[in-house]
Amino acid sequence: MLLRRSQDSTEHTASYYAASANWQTNYPKLQNDLNADVVIVGGGFSGVAAALELSERGYEVILLEANRIGWGASGRNGGQLIGGFGNNPSAFRRTIGPEGVDVVEHMGVECVDIVSERIEKYKIDCDLKWGWCEVALKKRHLKAYKNWSSDEPAIQLLNREEMRQFVNSELYLGGYYREDWGHLHPLNLCLGEAKAAEGLGAKIFEKSKVTAIKYSNNPVISTENGSVQARFAILCGNAYMTKLVPYLDARVLPTVSCIIATEQLSDDQINRTMSRDVAVCDSRTALDYYRLTADKRLLMGGLSNYTGLEPPNVSDVMRSHMAKVFPTLKSVGIDYAWSGKIGVSIRRMPQLGRIQDSNVLYATGYSGHGLAPTHMSGRVLAEAIDGNTYRMDILSKMLHLSWPGGKIFRRPLMAAGMMFYKILDMV
Ligand SMILES: Cc1cc2nc3c(=O)[nH]c(=O)nc-3n(C[C@H](O)[C@H](O)[C@H](O)COP(=O)(O)OP(=O)(O)OC[C@H]3O[C@@H](n4cnc5c(N)ncnc54)[C@H](O)[C@@H]3O)c2cc1C
Repeated sequence: MLLRRSQDSTEHTASYYAASANWQTNYPKLQNDLNADVVIVGGGFSGVAAALELSERGYEVILLEANRIGWGASGRNGGQLIGGFGNNPSAFRRTIGPEGVDVVEHMGVECVDIVSERIEKYKIDCDLKWGWCEVALKKRHLKAYKNWSSDEPAIQLLNREEMRQFVNSELYLGGYYREDWGHLHPLNLCLGEAKAAEGLGAKIFEKSKVTAIKYSNNPVISTENGSVQARFAILCGNAYMTKLVPYLDARVLPTVSCIIATEQLSDDQINRTMSRDVAVCDSRTALDYYRLTADKRLLMGGLSNYTGLEPPNVSDVMRSHMAKVFPTLKSVGIDYAWSGKIGVSIRRMPQLGRIQDSNVLYATGYSGHGLAPTHMSGRVLAEAIDGNTYRMDILSKMLHLSWPGGKIFRRPLMAAGMMFYKILDMV
């Protein structure tokens, strides 16, 4: 498959979200040398959530975004509001103990609550809808759901026929439904939260790319035209920060996921496909994820690759995914096609920590599942800066390992690993 570099523009990618944003931000560029309590690099959910948590606690915050607020993964994602903090916290029992596992598992519930509370408190118009399904392509998926459901009262198991009341596709053997997860317009959420932080005194700068970091107890963060000295810095550039921070670059693998949004569907088309307005993920490693938008388009994503490059024919490739799930939509018009970068950590657990014993903290590596967990990170970072490091200490202990293979071999190694999982997906 031909791949190309993502468009190098400081404006939003041409997504459905950018086209339906509640407003366009136009924050100033950083032009001076300023001081603050906390300076944050990156205006996605991690950075904005941290800014809002800290502003609520009365800290003076400066947020520096290289492009526009929500320009990265946060303004381009599938909009699925899914709980859970990272992949399988219990696998870390030896390093964080049973109490640590409980704390991380609780974060997986709290993160969704933070998002819904924020939406309510700040009256953010972002099309929140409750309802989420995971769908099975294989019998072993159904078996796994049955095992989970014994510990998870929120899960309502669905057999093949029941599943079709939610998602009318012949592909699925069954699945489960839960009403405590859902979907929303992520860019509008991010914009609304940035506005709320600004309302509480946070200073936001756009088109202010950070080019240098001085690591110390009073870190200095510099852009081309200015700098901020602060008691703490937080790095939230995730998959887009790359070489600026070699320590994180080695620990976060940028991978690409692509999305399409169709033209608006008729009631008849919706009744024949997505009769219940839920968000859907299938159970494969290289999964399809989809939902309806508020104006009744099918928004479908998938096709991760580990090259960091975007395929030139996102629209064609995603149309074929869509036609497999819903053959009746195979000729429907596609109005938007775009892609974004996911920061994958080796154990698929968000990474929060501190660099070189300095007051430079970071949050990164949500591995494709970050809309809600980023909000948890914002809270944990704010607690730590506020003097309560209990949850941050647990997360920092979860060894943040470098990807093997160094700069040259980590992508081919990851691609080989992905191929292995794709073969497993087919079995
Ligand atoms: C296509 C796609 C679909 C997804 N679907 C879902 C989903 O449905 N549900 C879900 O839970 N998760 C999903 N995710 C994952 C989720 O979007 C991310 O985990 C989350 O948005 C990460 O937020 P972030 O703030 O850490 O990073 P980002 O949103 O990527 O923000 C990083 C920001 O840092 C800025 N930046 C980088 N370097 C610098 C610098 N030097 N100076 C200043 N600023 C800088 C960037 O411009 C960017 O705006 C998806 C991701 C993608 C790409």
